[in-house]
Amino acid sequence: MIIGILKEPKDEARVALLPDAVKTLISWNVSVWVENNAGASAYASDELYKEAGAEIHQRAEIFQQSDLILGIQAISQEEIAKMKSAGVLMGQLNALFNPELTNYLVQEKRTAFSMELVPRTTRAQAMDVLSSMATVSGYKAVLMAADLLPRFFPMFMTAAGSISPSRVLILGAGVAGLQAIATARRLGAAVFAFDVRQAAKEEVLSIGAKFVDVEGATEDKGAGGYAVEQSAEYLQKQKDTIHEHAMKADVIITTAQIPGRKAPLLVEERTVRAMKPGSVIIDLAASSGGNCALSQPDQTVEVNGVRIVGVGNLPANMPQDASKMYGKNYLNFLKLIIKDGSLNLNFEDDIVAGTCVCHDGKPVNSRIVQMLNT
Ligand code: NAD
Repeated sequence: MIIGILKEPKDEARVALLPDAVKTLISWNVSVWVENNAGASAYASDELYKEAGAEIHQRAEIFQQSDLILGIQAISQEEIAKMKSAGVLMGQLNALFNPELTNYLVQEKRTAFSMELVPRTTRAQAMDVLSSMATVSGYKAVLMAADLLPRFFPMFMTAAGSISPSRVLILGAGVAGLQAIATARRLGAAVFAFDVRQAAKEEVLSIGAKFVDVEGATEDKGAGGYAVEQSAEYLQKQKDTIHEHAMKADVIITTAQIPGRKAPLLVEERTVRAMKPGSVIIDLAASSGGNCALSQPDQTVEVNGVRIVGVGNLPANMPQDASKMYGKNYLNFLKLIIKDGSLNLNFEDDIVAGTCVCHDGKPVNSRIVQMLNT
């Protein structure tokens, strides 16, 4: 079988598989066709792909000949139409939030897998692109904040006087938040973190940050380790506590998300206006509604000397390791669906079924089925 790897759009520097991952894939008795210049922005030249055993082709040839196409971002309906009728599409298609594309795939009887749908179970952890990319985002968000801040992160005792450490407040201590805490700690900041899940408290304390407690959060054991929506009363209590901490903070990094819903508003406009001039807010939830009232996706806004960075696609700012992690996640998933050099789709496997948007004209993932029925 032929596996095609696409070049991503201009604003996306990552590539689905780097040459090392391609080499592994080829050892499974498949051919890999890589679109010319696909890895250029991640510093992987066509030469390196050729050395790994891949063939370099034009985009049109990849669509015509591939049995399986791997990418990161979703492609257009016009391009999907150019694929072989039995060709399988894989990428981060954002299928739950893109009903138009999902409907098209179902109607055209395409088989598609969407990597953000990988179930968040222990067995699927090695295929979980959301976790890998959240790790990149958490790390990079801290570096971005440190770069913008007009102060040092660590404490310094110098002949020119002593400098107190910066105070960093992390809102949401999931995968991105924990990585942000660890990175800010390594840079020597005093770190405070907050989350609605009690399980996050132990993790925060174990990596050396202080936990900001707000009692009365709603938790649901059936939510698979995720947060659920909070009452209006709790959210107000939470905003008041954050307001108090924000006035002392130099940096706030927000990562709070609720799967399938708008991100909770945690930092109000009055809070931003009460912060010290020069402070920095990095909002990792900006593209899903924002944790800060003033953040704008992909923009930096300045209010009273406080800069609020609405972050879009941070993993694309670190394309080499982000692509390496993405490729490893892909290989772990592909192991489930490639056997003896051919596609072998076993929908009895909860990871295969859970990640599949549609097959043979039918939606497969249960949330996709529900979305198309409502
Ligand atoms: P996420 O990106 O959906 O959310 C980020 C964080 O925001 C979460 O910790 C959440 O509790 C928090 N949050 C939501 N509402 C909030 C509010 N009002 N105030 C403060 N914080 C709020 O989640 P994620 O980081 O992808 O994952 C969360 C947890 O899920 C992880 O810590 C882990 O326990 C679990 N998980 C398991 C797997 C797996 O087993 N494969 C994979 C990924 C995550």
